[in-house]
Amino acid sequence: MGRSRKIRRIIIHCSASDFGDVALFRQWHIQRGFVDVGYHYVILNGRRLPHSQYNPEEDGLVEEGRPLWQEGAHTKGHNKDSIGICLVGNPKFIGAPEMWFTPRQLGSLRDLVARLMKEFAIPPEQIHGHNEYAPKLCPGFYVSTIRDWWR
Ligand SMILES: [Zn+2]
Repeated sequence: MGRSRKIRRIIIHCSASDFGDVALFRQWHIQRGFVDVGYHYVILNGRRLPHSQYNPEEDGLVEEGRPLWQEGAHTKGHNKDSIGICLVGNPKFIGAPEMWFTPRQLGSLRDLVARLMKEFAIPPEQIHGHNEYAPKLCPGFYVSTIRDWWR
C-alpha cells in the first residue's frame, strides 16, 4: 500500500452501539483481525463506554482513526478510494438521521464532510451510506438526506 491514494468518495457508517470511540473500535477491529480501526473518522455521541455518563463536551467530537493515506476497512469492495466516517449510534431501522444521532453529531458530520469535499474535490453525488453498497441498515438513514445538504 502506497503513501498516497486517490480519494473519490465518502462512506458514512454507524457504530451499531450506544457508545464508543476510536480507542474502543480499534480494540474491536483488531480482535476481528484488522490491523487498525477500520474507519478514518469517528463522531462521538458523548458516551465512550457502556456505563459512561453522557458528556456534552464529547457529543459531536470528531476523532481521527486510520490515517487518510491508508485504505480503510469499512465497506467491502469499496475501501480503496473512499473515506469511512462512523457516527456512534445504534439505529433499529432506517429512519431520519435525527432519530439515531444527536444534533451535535450531525453538525460535526456536516462540517467534516464539507471540509473533505473541498480538500479532495468530492462532489455531493459521491457521499454514500454503507446501505448503498450492501443490504445493511448502516448508517440507519438514507444518505440522500446528507447529499441534499449540498443541493
Ligand atoms: Zn457500516
